[in-house]
Amino acid sequence: MASLQERIASVQERVARACAVSGRDVSDVKVIAVTKYVPLDTVAAVLEAGLTEIAESRWQDAEPKWNALGHKGIWHFIGHLQTNKVKDVIGKFEYIHSLDRLSLARELHKKADAAGLDVKVFLQVNISGEDTKFGLAPEAVEGFLKEIAPLNRVKVIGLMTMAPHEGDPELTRPVFRGLRELRDSLNQLALTPEPIQELSMGMSNDFEVAIQEGATRVRLGTVLVGH
Ligand SMILES: *Cc1c(COP(=O)(O)O)cnc(C)c1O
Repeated sequence: MASLQERIASVQERVARACAVSGRDVSDVKVIAVTKYVPLDTVAAVLEAGLTEIAESRWQDAEPKWNALGHKGIWHFIGHLQTNKVKDVIGKFEYIHSLDRLSLARELHKKADAAGLDVKVFLQVNISGEDTKFGLAPEAVEGFLKEIAPLNRVKVIGLMTMAPHEGDPELTRPVFRGLRELRDSLNQLALTPEPIQELSMGMSNDFEVAIQEGATRVRLGTVLVGH
């Protein structure tokens, strides 16, 4: 098995190639290391190797890692977030990728406001329409942005989606393109104080296609740290 350094180098090469073929600048695409499958010492090694963006999907699993290493990285919460866990993640996770309902937005605002903080969020959108996936329906996003506009501690910086797992990653392209087109059409409506810039999309199986379609953050677990 390749070393962590080799895996990182290989991912960086693949990111650079995907940027090159689509005329994008590599500095516009950030790799987030998804460490949900791996123990604390692997997270330490990832940080040591120079990847500073770390993602976890459950607070229970993240807690010991964050307690030991929180100050060394920038933390992203990518899993389905229960409202009663918001108090645990505010002030620890700089980014939440899974805002998908009003009750969660209200709780994020409330807990962030109490802490005197803003919270940067991605709206999770279910572009593929699979009923196993969380996320707002694309046609619901405009109304949702209007509803949460008064919650001024919640800063919508991007959209997030997950594509179905496909044997041929090329088949995921319409999902990623759909998220980009949704972002662009929402920005025409100017519903947020600042335009929505970010697209959190692309995982181990499909990140090159996601980059070609405009991903600004790719969330990589297996390909970086194994399973
Ligand atoms: C687990 C997970 C990932 C990483 O998946 P890999 O296929 O291992 O790269 C990315 N995003 C989310 C939301 C996840 O839950």
